[in-house]
Amino acid sequence: MVTQKLTPNQNGINTACEILKNGGTVAIPTETVYGLAANAFDKTAIEKIFIAKGRPQDNPLIVHIANMQTLGEIAKDIPKTAYLCAEKFWPGPLTIVLKRTDKIPSCVSAGLDTVAVRMPSCQIARQVIEKSGLPLAAPSANLSGSPSPTTANHVICDLDGKIDAVLMGENCDVGVESTVITLATNPPVLLRPGGITLEQLREVLPDITVNKAVLAELEKGETAASPGMKYKHYAPKTKTFLVEGENFAQFVNQKQNAVAICFKEESNNITIEKIIYGSSKTPKTLAQNLFKALRDVDDLGAQEVYIHAPEKSGIGLAVYNRLIRAAAFKVIKL
Ligand code: AMP
Ligand code: MG
Repeated sequence: MVTQKLTPNQNGINTACEILKNGGTVAIPTETVYGLAANAFDKTAIEKIFIAKGRPQDNPLIVHIANMQTLGEIAKDIPKTAYLCAEKFWPGPLTIVLKRTDKIPSCVSAGLDTVAVRMPSCQIARQVIEKSGLPLAAPSANLSGSPSPTTANHVICDLDGKIDAVLMGENCDVGVESTVITLATNPPVLLRPGGITLEQLREVLPDITVNKAVLAELEKGETAASPGMKYKHYAPKTKTFLVEGENFAQFVNQKQNAVAICFKEESNNITIEKIIYGSSKTPKTLAQNLFKALRDVDDLGAQEVYIHAPEKSGIGLAVYNRLIRAAAFKVIKL
């Protein structure tokens, strides 16, 4: 299959919509990461997503919508809290898990009786949803397990020849995937941290709890409330360690055949090869550059990479959550 590289102007968006209406797959930019979109009502189109990504069948997809009317078509028993969250955080990087209607094929939800829904703010994504007139199931547009794509080129590296088209938009602003909460349970639970922070969510959902898988590895046999969170994920090919604590520079400088992923503030003190992924003072920059750093590190050809962990607050919680998975839960506490 030849993957079309579409310019995200009206022509490109119209072509993308035609492909989607005909049951094809198109990678689209969103404010979080690039998504691999297909018609959420079309079982055959959804299967193409799983095949292109090599995604395990038990990992459900997020359905992207552009208006509240579609929410009523795909979800049922919607609690008042969902409307409060929508009012405050949509369009934006928040995904809400709700009870599913029969209009959504069970493969979208990996057989669960719930559906994950999000209304993106990215103008290109919104136009594709609106013009196609379809809710779009769209997981991250990467090969399953590899770092999520924050540029159109990341998508091409992973999926060229495996999908119908890519809308070649800008780099993603948030840089990590959406926050996922479930409102299908009471109290609400944070399943995956992301662009909307736990602190922001507590203003609307004061009783929200945090699923154990956000910050720790599940024990053998434990079931994951958010199936995607049980996997080793986002991982470079280089053996990866996450390092928590103050004396990061001193620690990594003693390592042989290793590279560091570090903060701007400490980079001058690090004598081994390094990639700066942002400033510890502005964790938003860490989120923006995280996945690019995880991809770039393999080009350096070292045996090991040591990554300095951010604070676990604000968007730092989302960065930490991705990093423990990238490191397959190998965390070193200094
Ligand atoms: P991705 O699309 O790659 O960002 O991954 C989607 C994430 O949303 C995965 O972690 C899924 O486990 C989670 N997810 C999607 N649908 C559901 C659902 N119905 N219940 C719980 N988690 C979900
Ligand atoms: Mg993903």
